[in-house]
Order: sequence, then structure tokens, then C-alpha cells
Amino acid sequence: MTSDEQGRKPTHWISRSDRPPPCFSPHVSPPTPHCEPLVWTVPERFAPAGRVLAWTCPCGDTVYELRQASGLRFIRRTRRNGRVEDSRRWAAVVGTAQWNALLMGHLR
Ligand SMILES: [Zn+2]
Repeated sequence: MTSDEQGRKPTHWISRSDRPPPCFSPHVSPPTPHCEPLVWTVPERFAPAGRVLAWTCPCGDTVYELRQASGLRFIRRTRRNGRVEDSRRWAAVVGTAQWNALLMGHLR
């Protein structure tokens, strides 16, 4: 770890380098029996990436982000291997509902 990295991390992490970082963000619940599949596609090259509104904990193999671009919301998932895929885009209120359903294991 460089001194620059140390400067940006909370001080209590520095002496605990043998531990994984604490989980500050929500985890996605395991799929429920009625879990619905989302359609995931590779982001279109010129589609706006938008801004990130919420994200899941990066301790697992997949990180999900709720994003907003041009007034529409979508979910982006990034695999540890670098593969990035987006959901379709929804009106903001629908996108937030989809995000909550994802976190609760009703969508995947
Ligand atoms: Zn975590």
C-alpha cells in the first residue's frame, strides 16, 4: 500500500490490513423461489452511462449499480472478471422499484 492510498482510507483500516474491508453497502439477497430474470445486455457504445445513485457491496463477485441517465434509470452489473451489462432503462420510479426488487432477491 502506498502512502497515498493510506491517506484516503479511514485510519482504522490501516492497522487491519489482514482483514477484508467492512461492508458498508447493501448485499443482494439470494434469489427467492419466484425470482424473475432481468434481461442483461452489453451497454450500447453511445448510450449515456449516467450517474450512479446506489450500489451494492463490492465484496462479492458482482457489483450492481442503480444509475440514472437522461431521466431514465437502469441497473448495471459488473462482474469481477470485468464483464459489464445493463438492464433495460425505465422511468425513474419504475427503476427504483426494480432496484429494490433486485436487493430483495425478487429479480436477478
Ligand atoms: Zn460485503
